Amino acid sequence: MSTPKQTQPATDRTVKEPTLGLADLPLRPELQGAEPYGAPQLDVAIRLNVNENPYPAPAAMSAELGEAAAAEAAHLNRYPDREARALRADLANYLNRTNPGIVPLNADNIWVANGSNEVMTHLLQAFGGPGRSLLLFPPTYSMYPEYARNTHTGVVTAPRAADFSIDLEAARQAIAAEQPAVVMIASPNNPTGTATDPEVLAALVEAAPGMVIVDEAYAEFARQGTPSALELLADHPRLVVTRTMSKAFGFAGGRLGYLAASPAVVDACRIVRLPYHLSALSQLAARVALRHTDALLEKVDALRSERDRLTDWLRGRGYEVAESDANFVYFGTFDDRHAVFSGLLERGVLIRETGPDRWLRVSAGTAEEMAGFRQAMDSVARDLGLPQAVAADQTNAQEASR
Ligand SMILES: *Cc1c(COP(=O)(O)O)cnc(C)c1O
Repeated sequence: MSTPKQTQPATDRTVKEPTLGLADLPLRPELQGAEPYGAPQLDVAIRLNVNENPYPAPAAMSAELGEAAAAEAAHLNRYPDREARALRADLANYLNRTNPGIVPLNADNIWVANGSNEVMTHLLQAFGGPGRSLLLFPPTYSMYPEYARNTHTGVVTAPRAADFSIDLEAARQAIAAEQPAVVMIASPNNPTGTATDPEVLAALVEAAPGMVIVDEAYAEFARQGTPSALELLADHPRLVVTRTMSKAFGFAGGRLGYLAASPAVVDACRIVRLPYHLSALSQLAARVALRHTDALLEKVDALRSERDRLTDWLRGRGYEVAESDANFVYFGTFDDRHAVFSGLLERGVLIRETGPDRWLRVSAGTAEEMAGFRQAMDSVARDLGLPQAVAADQTNAQEASR
């Protein structure tokens, strides 16, 4: 019998081996030099940078979730329902209930995954690929080109108008010239907040040779009377509407996104998904959250009001603000937006530098967070000598003399 080999302590080994950097690995050429996606996750007092819902889950929901998770724990030796049928039926009910104008959806129309980012990746895995292209309308969600890269899909773009709306003529030309396999439109758009008219969406579906994906991550925040692309689904089998529980539901940590489309689109996603991609705990947590829909969505109205207040306040100060149907506001314009971003950060307010380089994005938060943002913004404007500081001083003087 041989004596067991002595293994060296791990600490010794790491000291002796040369450090291997990413550049030393045989990374795919298209990934070389790439950075992982992500806004900074900084621990500051007022975080308005990733469009999260600032309100914690209702206590009744947390309690129910705790009990349900404890019961489920005994069954975690088994794989979850691969098809997530019960959750998909719940999501269909939610969409039917909140969009009374649509042709009713059922579980066969719904697909689910870990966030709508995974849903959209499934769509590009299924409908993109080598030799195919994805048409985007920048400035838009910065993850879209990454799904394309990861699925070997080419990217082509069509411009937006000065107010960030989609320029239908330019879009039609791009579609005719590029014949994109997939067209992806965020509506309301991130980072601009712009909702796209259903007539424009319908025209794009008519013109596009392939799939059209409308990313409605922010649909619940749209102003009254802004229709959802869900209304177009019954007439357009190549249209897909993606949604998420990350924003309006305040369930970003739960990682649950979904789509509504014809059952054939769902079948396409089922081919490319990883086996058992959505854990039993995710499915369970989302079902519990959906049982508390009304309580969760209660805060949507408050956030909409804060968004509108913020828009008015920024315009009152003389900033340019894009029309927003989302839970954030895109504003500018700055010669040096980074100075504004940094000034706010020094004052404990984190917002987002994204999209065209003269603009900044700020999420709608609680009333207290918004008051903190406004105060910090005036202070930064004064520090940087922005013209808006004059407007701020005038308003403050008027208020003081009242
Ligand atoms: C936040 C956001 C999403 C949501 O992503 P999840 O993966 O569902 O958290 C999707 N699309 C856009 C445009 C977003 O801004």
